Amino acid sequence: MFLRHVTNDISAYCHGELSSEHSKQFAEHLIACAKCRTKFEEVKLGIKLAEQLPRLSAPDRLWSEIEPLLTRETASAVRPYWMWQSKVAAAAVLLLVAGLGVFWIYKGRNPKPSWLVKRLNGAPKIGSEQISANGRLAIGEWLETDGTSRAQIDVASIGNVEVEANSRVRLLQSRADEHRLELVRGKMSARIWAPPRLFFVDTPSAVAADYGCAYTLEVNDQGGSLLRVTSGWVAMETKDRESMVPAGASCETRPGIGPGTAYFDDAAPAFREALAKVDFDPDAAVREAALTSVLDQARPRDTLTLWHLFRRSDGADRERLYDKLATFVPPPAGVTREGMLRGDEQMTSDWLAVLEPIWTGNSGGKMVPKKVADAYFKVRNGLSRRLKDMAPK
Ligand SMILES: [Zn+2]
Repeated sequence: MFLRHVTNDISAYCHGELSSEHSKQFAEHLIACAKCRTKFEEVKLGIKLAEQLPRLSAPDRLWSEIEPLLTRETASAVRPYWMWQSKVAAAAVLLLVAGLGVFWIYKGRNPKPSWLVKRLNGAPKIGSEQISANGRLAIGEWLETDGTSRAQIDVASIGNVEVEANSRVRLLQSRADEHRLELVRGKMSARIWAPPRLFFVDTPSAVAADYGCAYTLEVNDQGGSLLRVTSGWVAMETKDRESMVPAGASCETRPGIGPGTAYFDDAAPAFREALAKVDFDPDAAVREAALTSVLDQARPRDTLTLWHLFRRSDGADRERLYDKLATFVPPPAGVTREGMLRGDEQMTSDWLAVLEPIWTGNSGGKMVPKKVADAYFKVRNGLSRRLKDMAPK
């Protein structure tokens, strides 16, 4: 499932045109492949821009300039190509500018989207207003809870978020292809049933990107955060660092550093302490000693942590991590030590295909039955199509 890049299928995926089996493979590949994820984001952005630009007719004056040009081009093959090209380019720029103008006017007239907020306990506030039973959170507005209040937010039609006591949350974006909250303090739990990468939560030290999942996210007063995933996958990411976190695992993030390495919640406390040093200690000697401790205490399931460390390490550390990984899960045929150390993409995909079921299976190491997975993705794809239908036309 990880063998082939999926860049050619991105547009079809975004428009709900893939079969459910194909969509499932697409989503799983996206989880494993940073390269395709980047491409996916780019294509999504393009689609978003295209959808926001309303169709409009070009002014007659413009056509009166273009039409003779086109006629002349067909009539006379000797006309220099570049002259024709530059005039059409100028016309295209004019069209684009006119389109953007109309887009801004159109955007100004549309009311801001907002999400339903239900009071669960106490007196949560939206802005400075206390909400009694229900309220609405518009883009840019803050929802705040004190020591005794809690609230639930409906995330458009794709899930919900419970905001715990002493928390501050803002709605940043609500569009068919992107829903985004900001959590600056406190704790929230999210249950999302959308296709991957539709729901995001910004924290002061990283962004949590949803891959169809349930999780809790906590932000402390220093701006650090702790993510715990209970189902599916979540990515914790900054511009240059990312950790993929499966169900049963957690990931800590720190301001100025970003996400640390994902670890399973049932890993030994000493393993987790050592990992925090590997991820965040400023002293290289301390990090080095801590890595030895991580390697010594790792269990087969902790290959999740070792793999992510391996992917971001170099030199002697990279070799040590490779050797430990290979003792737990021997690389499949065709994957060599030398190839892995130099970061061969195909070998990385092949080995990951063997490792990933160990991380996402239940605690007995068994995989989720295929039937269950298929049913899950069928529901997901149905929702994706519905979301698309609901998108502003
Ligand atoms: Zn790929």
